[in-house]
Amino acid sequence: MKAKLIDGKSIAELIKKEIATEVASMIDQGLEAPHLAAILVGNDPASETYVAAKERACRRVGMTATTYRMPVRTSEKELLSTIEFLNNDPDIDGFIVQLPLPAHIDTNNVIEHIAPEKDVDGFHPRNIGRMLLGLPAYLPATPAGIMELLERSDIEVQGTHCVIIGRSNIVGTPLSILLSRKTENANATVTLCHSHTTNLAELTRQADILIVAIGQPEFLKADMIKPNAVIIDVGIHRIPDAKSEKGYRITGDAAFKEVAAKASAITPVPGGVGPMTIASLLKNTLLAAQHKVYKP
Ligand code: NDP
Repeated sequence: MKAKLIDGKSIAELIKKEIATEVASMIDQGLEAPHLAAILVGNDPASETYVAAKERACRRVGMTATTYRMPVRTSEKELLSTIEFLNNDPDIDGFIVQLPLPAHIDTNNVIEHIAPEKDVDGFHPRNIGRMLLGLPAYLPATPAGIMELLERSDIEVQGTHCVIIGRSNIVGTPLSILLSRKTENANATVTLCHSHTTNLAELTRQADILIVAIGQPEFLKADMIKPNAVIIDVGIHRIPDAKSEKGYRITGDAAFKEVAAKASAITPVPGGVGPMTIASLLKNTLLAAQHKVYKP
């Protein structure tokens, strides 16, 4: 393998240590530990795993974590009343509603009901709008984690051509905004690709930094990248594998082996973007508890 591994796991550990120090100092000052709540509707196994990981990470940095579990049949009205309760609970600094929600619930309506000052996922239109304008905001966790990963790995973003495959509201679209902002560690020229993009490979081969977030295992092949490109793989998939002890293997949206042989740096899956997403959520929760984005 030629590419340097971008070690999201170690960088996220470092960020968590920094957060733990801040939390300890808040407690020393007689303040409450930051408190993150999560609402989990239904029992989707992937969502269960993500929420459990978030809870564990909170506890490890000294924060308090509470999960509100609601059955899959929960009505939108019932979910909105739990949101209203958390919006008004002074003990909760921030909360998330784990996505995806069951199909009978309107996700956008749910997100709009979260108080922006407690929206530590950064999905509320007010936080998205503030991010767009460069105002203080909770940044969506995965794009913010990718920006931090690039910065802490000393990967120069300014002046580069970044190509993103995937334009979801939680990854591709906000990342395109962060990368192209007029700020020190951004200033990239961004091309945002999606399922209607024609000549996708022609565009991806122009990328200095290529981010793939489409949700298709091993979609990105070596012939789609420029030699020495930096590859950020957001995808995460569990593929059945009889040869593995667990019966499955974890892979991303890039065909790791062949892409790593041509790239200059690449994020592994697992251990790349995933841990950074959790670290960013903790960071937002700390900001919420310290009232650094919205003044009380
Ligand atoms: P979505 O399914 O919401 O969006 C996928 C995007 O990819 C869409 O914009 C879609 O285009 C585009 N797309 C799909 N197929 C193609 C194609 N063949 N060519 C070009 N574009 C295509 O995905 P998410 O953004 O939510 O997630 C993407 C992946 O990242 C998933 O594997 C998910 O599990 C993972 N993920 C990982 C996180 C982490 O922390 N590591 C966090 C969040 C997600 P169109 O808009 O036209 O439909």
